[in-house]
Amino acid sequence: MLEDWVFGEPTTKGYDASKVEGKRTDENIKYCEQCDCCWELDKYLSKQGNNISLKRNIYHYYEDFPTYGKKREICPRCK
Ligand SMILES: [Zn+2]
Repeated sequence: MLEDWVFGEPTTKGYDASKVEGKRTDENIKYCEQCDCCWELDKYLSKQGNNISLKRNIYHYYEDFPTYGKKREICPRCK
């Protein structure tokens, strides 16, 4: 029984970590009431290639995305 418990612990920790990861990603998604879209800034892609020197940010838009619990924020497209 003890062997099972020791084996099970890392699995449980890994599962929790993936849940936290998913939550963090979701928190970056905001909802724009102007165009009725969810959107987020892609921090990774915004740092690629010429995007930094051009001060160009990459955004993703999600149509028909569940808006429950999302922050209301006007997206860069509507500003
Ligand atoms: Zn918008």
